Amino acid sequence: MVIHTQKETLVPALTSLSKTDKIGFVPTMGALHAGHISLVKKALQDQDVVVVSIFVNPTQFNNPNDLAQYPRTPEEDISLLQNLKGAVIVYLPEITDIYSDSVSAEKYNFGNLENEMEGKYRKGHFDGVGTVVGKLLKIVKPNAAYFGEKDFQQLQIVRKLVAVEKLPVKIVGCPILREKNGLAMSSRNKRLSAMEFKEASIIYETLTEVRQNFGSKSITALNELVKERFLQTNNLKLEYFEIANERTLKSAKRKNKGSKYRAFIAAFAGEVRLIDNMPLN
Ligand code: AMP
Repeated sequence: MVIHTQKETLVPALTSLSKTDKIGFVPTMGALHAGHISLVKKALQDQDVVVVSIFVNPTQFNNPNDLAQYPRTPEEDISLLQNLKGAVIVYLPEITDIYSDSVSAEKYNFGNLENEMEGKYRKGHFDGVGTVVGKLLKIVKPNAAYFGEKDFQQLQIVRKLVAVEKLPVKIVGCPILREKNGLAMSSRNKRLSAMEFKEASIIYETLTEVRQNFGSKSITALNELVKERFLQTNNLKLEYFEIANERTLKSAKRKNKGSKYRAFIAAFAGEVRLIDNMPLN
């Protein structure tokens, strides 16, 4: 496994590959867990060479404390990737390699996708995501890039970015990997106390309950049900719950036949912000 810390060496290494080699790309912010590894394994199945980037992108953090506290475990990340069978190239850049001397985000219009949910609660977040994903795709020039449904809104935004900028890359969405108690795997889970970790399973349990009742209950009743569930917790604070149209990500007031819906939750366990989602129909 080769590790590059600069695009100056990464780009020539990639252009020197055989023209028939297909490149897969998995962008991450490190503190890797089995969820990330599932993306890399899928990419290795589909492609000849897989680039994994590890870069905590400052422009997508709206909260400086969250950025400062974000777990960074490069040695462990590298050994996890080393254990995989297949041609993996790691790109572990410094901030200047991505941003030169101007650490700022571009402004995007993602057709309103950026104003829902995460966009509402994390101002500027998707400008930061669009900026870094755009830069990385232009450096790596992969045939396909792999993103988790864990960040479903991000996945839809990346699809829009690629369409708007006409980038020749296939975007592949991958299923959410969960802990045994149902909690969606996340780098941020490392910051949870044992008690918070245990109680955070309520996020998954509530989403499951919403899915089970989606056919019989109204959206208003489901919103109430979720609020109730979170009021009964000790360590969890619901930030938002939304049932949204999967394509537009617009909050749904009622169910329309023929539309696909997904339930989304953001909640705080102490200072740690957790998100999750689940398809409903
Ligand atoms: P991050 O390092 O949090 O930016 O995540 C990098 C990629 O891994 C993103 O495409 C995430 O959606 C994906 N990812 C994170 N957690 C999970 C998970 N539990 N299951 C599947 N994919 C995930």
